[in-house]
Amino acid sequence: MWCIAQIPDTVKLESSAKVTAILKIDQGYTVDYTTPHGRYQATTRYLIGADGANSIVRKAIYPKHRIRTYLSIQEWYQVSDSRPFYASIFDPEATDCYSWALYKNDYLLFGGAYPQTGARQRFENQKQKLIDHGYPLQHPIKRQACLVLRPEKLSDIVTGKDNAYLIGEAAGWVSPS
Ligand SMILES: Cc1cc2nc3c(=O)[nH]c(=O)nc-3n(C[C@H](O)[C@H](O)[C@H](O)COP(=O)(O)OP(=O)(O)OC[C@H]3O[C@@H](n4cnc5c(N)ncnc54)[C@H](O)[C@@H]3O)c2cc1C
Repeated sequence: MWCIAQIPDTVKLESSAKVTAILKIDQGYTVDYTTPHGRYQATTRYLIGADGANSIVRKAIYPKHRIRTYLSIQEWYQVSDSRPFYASIFDPEATDCYSWALYKNDYLLFGGAYPQTGARQRFENQKQKLIDHGYPLQHPIKRQACLVLRPEKLSDIVTGKDNAYLIGEAAGWVSPS
């Protein structure tokens, strides 16, 4: 919100747009996007992708680039005894990345980053193990999931070319955990 507040009035802001296609043209790029009002196309000389792990901008400018991508699944559980606590859980049966548990106000959060194949089952199996260890994970009130990148080498980071730039996780900038 703070970043958006810095945008001057002279800039047109489409805040509920979803970019569906990007094409390189002689003058720069065309960007196809949809909003609740319809489908549109913008033409631009410069393009900046800040669109996260599943970046459509990265795929457009580096179509052959591959980076390890995990599915992160996290659930929230209401608790009455919140406390300062953080657990990093390393369990090779569940994932070669890691999982976490922490308290946030009146909630205990448990989640992990799993190989995409069988991610949901891996999460459920690991959750059951933790329940057996006494973690109160029986009644989730919320589940979230998203892709998360896990770079392994410097060449996994790609910052752009041809007047197109990538920032944040779109470029691969993410804590290597
Ligand atoms: C469960 C979990 C826990 C994490 N914990 C930590 C932590 O403790 N510390 C830490 O440093 N990092 C943490 N991370 C990583 C951190 O959240 C990300 O690295 C960071 O959010 C990346 O920011 P970003 O702005 O680059 O991308 P994002 O926050 O992913 O933002 C990308 C934006 O682009 C939008 N977008 C994507 N595609 C399109 C499209 N086609 N059209 C229009 N809009 C689009 C998305 O809606 C989103 O608003 C965690 C990640 C996860 C999944």
